[in-house]
Amino acid sequence: MAVIEVDRLHKRYGDTVAVHDVSFSVEEGEIFGILGPNGAGKTTTVECLSGLRPADGGRVSVLGLDPGRDRDELRQVLGVQLQESGLPEKMEVREALDLFASFYRRPADPAELLDRLGLTDKARCRYKKLSGGQQQRLAIALAMIGGPRVVILDELTTGLDPHARRAAWDLVERIRDDGVTVLLVTHFMEEAERLCDRVALIDSGRVVAVDTPAGLARQAGESQRMRFRPSAPLDEDVLRALPEVTGLSWHGPQIEISGTGDLVGAVTSLLARRHIIAADLRVEQASLDDAFIALTGHATPDAVS
Ligand code: ADP
Repeated sequence: MAVIEVDRLHKRYGDTVAVHDVSFSVEEGEIFGILGPNGAGKTTTVECLSGLRPADGGRVSVLGLDPGRDRDELRQVLGVQLQESGLPEKMEVREALDLFASFYRRPADPAELLDRLGLTDKARCRYKKLSGGQQQRLAIALAMIGGPRVVILDELTTGLDPHARRAAWDLVERIRDDGVTVLLVTHFMEEAERLCDRVALIDSGRVVAVDTPAGLARQAGESQRMRFRPSAPLDEDVLRALPEVTGLSWHGPQIEISGTGDLVGAVTSLLARRHIIAADLRVEQASLDDAFIALTGHATPDAVS
């Protein structure tokens, strides 16, 4: 079931078209990524989705609600973490959670949320004294305090060190495991690759492609390589006859096969039929980075930021 539907969303600021007929839909229970370089129109898109900005054209619906018309109703079911928290520097963590909880009809338990996000010992700490990772965890807690069915997380891990970033990723996965649909805005390829079930690749206000990270890499036509040591003699011609295989070479006892599409599936099922084991198997897949360059014709978001 689609919980978010965006159909030809259009938004301009004066002469700048920030979002140019963007369409995608998000299924219940997904972690769906909106991935693109700075200025691509990601934040504008989610601001229109959450009712913070009126769209100039197109149709948007979240859980069947119209963000423009049903804003109050939407606030009860949609959690939003935007880039700027806007919290007063002197506000304490627990105070912020209690304040936000008061906005909702059925809020989550603040103490339990603090515990889950590892912030219990920071409950009395002022916002400005928190580390970057702790501030982001609080931002997640504030997005989750209303007990939402859908949560939007915008550039959650920007500015975090690798350890804090990984901790934030774990939290996002836990949110999804609780049945909450996650819309994740990011310009980090690695983040999208690691977390997202599907990704909308956005460039200059347009959707370039929507697919799984692996599907995007495949769409880009990038080749894959697998290398292994066959446990028994292998007939090269049978391998070469597979439509997925484009190249084959030997490196001592190891064979290296390159190809496209579902290369790994095709080769491993052929080996299985012949009772041959692929020892020391290594697979190199094309990455989302390769896909981004191939689909947009320019550098990856990480490089642009
Ligand atoms: P992203 O989130 O992908 O970085 P944004 O949605 O923030 O992209 O911005 C898309 C485009 O719209 C950019 O060219 C940006 O400069 C412009 N833009 C964003 N917000 C405003 C605004 N409030 N007024 C004018 N232009 C804006």
